Amino acid sequence: REELDVYSIRKQFPVLSREVKGKPLVYLDNAATTQKPQVVIDALVDYYSNYNANIHRGIHTLAEEATASFESTRDAVTRFINAPSREQIIFTRGATESINLVAYTWGRQNIKAGDEIIISAMEHHSNIVPWQMLCEEKGAVLKVIPFNGAGELRMDVFEELISPKTKLVSIVHVSNSLGTVNPVKDIIEKAHQAGAIVVVDGAQSTVHLDIDVQAMDCDFFVFSGHKLYGPTGTGVLYGKQHLLESMPPFLGGGEMIKEVSFEKTTYNDLPYKFEAGTPNIADVVALKTAFEFINGVGKQKIREHENALLIYATKQLEMIPQLKIIGQAKEKVSVISFVLDNIHPQDAGILLDNSGIAVRTGHHCTQPCMNIFGIPGTIRASFAVYNTKEEIDILVKGLHKAIKMLS
Ligand code: PMP
Repeated sequence: REELDVYSIRKQFPVLSREVKGKPLVYLDNAATTQKPQVVIDALVDYYSNYNANIHRGIHTLAEEATASFESTRDAVTRFINAPSREQIIFTRGATESINLVAYTWGRQNIKAGDEIIISAMEHHSNIVPWQMLCEEKGAVLKVIPFNGAGELRMDVFEELISPKTKLVSIVHVSNSLGTVNPVKDIIEKAHQAGAIVVVDGAQSTVHLDIDVQAMDCDFFVFSGHKLYGPTGTGVLYGKQHLLESMPPFLGGGEMIKEVSFEKTTYNDLPYKFEAGTPNIADVVALKTAFEFINGVGKQKIREHENALLIYATKQLEMIPQLKIIGQAKEKVSVISFVLDNIHPQDAGILLDNSGIAVRTGHHCTQPCMNIFGIPGTIRASFAVYNTKEEIDILVKGLHKAIKMLS
């Protein structure tokens, strides 16, 4: 089968040809945010150059063009995650806002004292704190699914935790600090049997895996556009229709209303009920081209390429005696966290940057997860469609140099 032409893909990402500290940039911080292809950058420039206008309300040509473009991204998202209808796609600023939206609306309407919410020990802070705040306010209880030494969820413990008291389970699809792919379908099935609803945090999965929210049967699915080659400030909340309809609005303001009087306001239909105010029009418009980019390359091809990088990098890194990989789940995406004997991740990160290599160091907004491993943080290399084996070799060389200098 035809392989992905990584060099022609690299040419589509202008930033990849820059230098850092006099060395060619090796960008391995894709789990934090991916770089943007020229089509996405062009879409932003095109929007501001040619049809910038506020959407939905205007009847003039520019407003109509901007509205059509904004709404066609909603159609692209609908197809990308196989949602049953476009009304179920709510635009937010990111995964964080999407989770908070659910916690503030569904959560505050449905969670009572004594109810239980289950998350996992590998959640990003954005899928911990909103539920903690909700539990504190309502007198509900937050339960946590632990993971094993490989960084895989203890499904046996999950089955013990889940009970008729469980009202909501919110789980990360793919861990940003360990790369673990969680068995969300199984979790959703068991949660539903207990009468709980499930939020899936797809911030890391949507760029790597095929997402089918109907097959998954999740109640809510969230992700951020900037992690899938799209602009920052774009996020999506997908929800089941009956849940979205039953929920009160999140923010009040323009666009989310049908009629306003001082006596009573009636709310707009989905999805506009949850999109108060002027949205992030330009970035949402450009987000569509990110989906087109991914679809154009082909998700299957991307996955095979990234998986080959994961296997190669794992093998190369394992040969460094002072290095230990954190998180070795059987099912992983192209994210590798590791620590070096007696070297602080930050020190290694600074030295790598001197060689033009961008990695992430620290707790990756998963402090509880790091605490379980008994470490303050890791060095994380995460690969995207445009990374190459040569870049992994440069990383390995850089690590050898760092170890030599720091130990
Ligand atoms: N969940 C996970 C697993 C993430 O990796 C991130 C981003 N690091 C988020 C949620 C939050 O995404 P954002 O900061 O784009 O809202």
